[in-house]
Order: sequence, then structure tokens, then C-alpha cells
Amino acid sequence: MKIIQKEYYQKNRKEILIYKKKIRESNPKLLNERSRKWRENNLEYVRRRDRELIKTERGKANHQRSCIKRRTKIKEIINTLTFKEWLDILKKYHFKCAYCGKEFDLFTIPERDHIIPISKGGNNIKENIIPACRNCNARKSNKIININQEEKEWGIKKVKVYINE
Ligand SMILES: [Zn+2]
Repeated sequence: MKIIQKEYYQKNRKEILIYKKKIRESNPKLLNERSRKWRENNLEYVRRRDRELIKTERGKANHQRSCIKRRTKIKEIINTLTFKEWLDILKKYHFKCAYCGKEFDLFTIPERDHIIPISKGGNNIKENIIPACRNCNARKSNKIININQEEKEWGIKKVKVYINE
């Protein structure tokens, strides 16, 4: 069965690709959702594949492209945060991580966490930034948080959001 599929694919490669492209274009959301679910269900495999892919020339090129894409995106955002504003934010949170409450020091360096992630249209402005330790920032990833909520669920772990007004 597999061999037949492969032969069929090779013979009709062009048509299949055009067909797939059409589907993608007509309903990008559905496909995104589907591939996201697939990734979730095959996380181990995806991670292993990604690790292998990055070693190949194609993988390296892909990685570079996405880095450039990300950098371009950063250029497009509103970027008004000054160093003083960042210090004020740190002061407002008593130099503690806004999520876990861990105090910042030489070993726990504060990171700027975007309430609305850059990838979701957030800007690098003082209203959109809270201090987070590396662990919390990584765990939050690109999810949007609601700082008015006492607690917010991120996947399995519940994380408290500390606000000191
Ligand atoms: Zn933290």
C-alpha cells in the first residue's frame, strides 16, 4: 500500500502540491488548528525531528529565515520603553518576579515580559511590560495574560500574578 501511495505521489506531485496549497489558502485556520493538535499529540517525535532537522543544511536555512522574520517583526512594533521606565516597573514590583514572587539578584535576572506578546500584536511600551524571572517568562511563552485576574492557568500549572499597585 505504501509503495503504491509513493508512486502515486511521485507521478502526481505537482497536482498534489497545488491542491494542498489551495486547501491551505482557503482555510488556513483549520489547518493551523489541525497541525497544532498533531504537534501536541506527537511532541516527542516533533522535538526529535526538530533536533535532527537543525543539523541539516535545509534546517539551518529554515532556522535562519525564521530568525530574520522574527527580527523584522520586532522592528515593526512600537518601541518606547526607556531604561528609566524599566527601572520604574521593577520598583513597582519590588524587584520581584511578577509571577512567582522570586526576588531578583545576580542569579535571577529580570526579563521583560510582554503582557500581550509581541507575536500577538503587543508593543514594547511600559504599559505592556512586567518583570519576570527566566523560568516564568519561558513558561508563559506567547500566551496572553490578564493581569486583572488573580490567577491564570497556563497549561497544567497555575501561576499567581502579583500586582503591587
Ligand atoms: Zn518567576
